[in-house]
Amino acid sequence: LSKREHEKSLVFPGRKQKGCAGCNRKIKDRYLLKALDKYWHEDCLKCACCDCRLGEVGSTLYTKANLILCRRDYLRLFGTTGNCAACSKLIPAFEMVMRARDNVYHLDCFACQLCNQRFCVGDKFFLKNNMILCQMDYEEGQLNGSFETQVQ
Ligand SMILES: [Zn+2]
Ligand SMILES: [Zn+2]
Ligand SMILES: [Zn+2]
Ligand SMILES: [Zn+2]
Repeated sequence: LSKREHEKSLVFPGRKQKGCAGCNRKIKDRYLLKALDKYWHEDCLKCACCDCRLGEVGSTLYTKANLILCRRDYLRLFGTTGNCAACSKLIPAFEMVMRARDNVYHLDCFACQLCNQRFCVGDKFFLKNNMILCQMDYEEGQLNGSFETQVQ
């Protein structure tokens, strides 16, 4: 994340007036806000999503794909929830996930790992040796003794 995080600072204008990268007008304020190698009115440096002012002290600036974002929106849009326990790919923060104990799964990946049965709301599923199982496969495994018994 740190690569997407940007420093901003207040600088003195000097003799030449600078144009604001947000509204393209001249900045006549006493101080200029400098961020992303450009100059801004304090009011013009805003989050593209929620419009919150990013010029304020303490607010951090993030960029991605030409968007300027506040920390909250950046994480919401581009952060990650973690790795899917089934396919081990990253899950973006905005995606719906299934959770089972400490594991997160893509919705598409949340299925019995033996018979691929999907689970609907209310269906029972079991976690065994970090595998998701439907009730049938779980009970079958118990009978055959093919799963190590886990001490809970
Ligand atoms: Zn401006
Ligand atoms: Zn925002
Ligand atoms: Zn997955
Ligand atoms: Zn199954």
